[in-house]
Amino acid sequence: MERGGIIKHNKDNAPKTGDWKFMKPEVDASKCIGCGTCVNPCPEAVIELIERADGNKKKLAEIDQEYCKGCGVCAAVCPVKAISMRK
Ligand code: SF4
Ligand code: SF4
Repeated sequence: MERGGIIKHNKDNAPKTGDWKFMKPEVDASKCIGCGTCVNPCPEAVIELIERADGNKKKLAEIDQEYCKGCGVCAAVCPVKAISMRK
């Protein structure tokens, strides 16, 4: 691969880190504004913006806990502090 090339993340090939992580991110749906700021910085690419079931037009960040490694980057970058890291 050329220097600076981008490797596309394939979650199917990633180890399931959900069981051993120390901290777990929790999204507060009432605070999340669906801005997507947390999506790209996640090193495991496990955050998706989903439609809400309650008709709220703002999307909601959803985290796949099975593959999340609990690094806390998402919580650090969220502009409205909608993600809390819990033990
Ligand atoms: S804690 Fe880390 S791995 Fe888990 S969703 Fe947030 S940024 Fe991604
Ligand atoms: S950065 Fe925060 S407000 Fe934006 S989508 Fe992620 S959790 Fe929601």
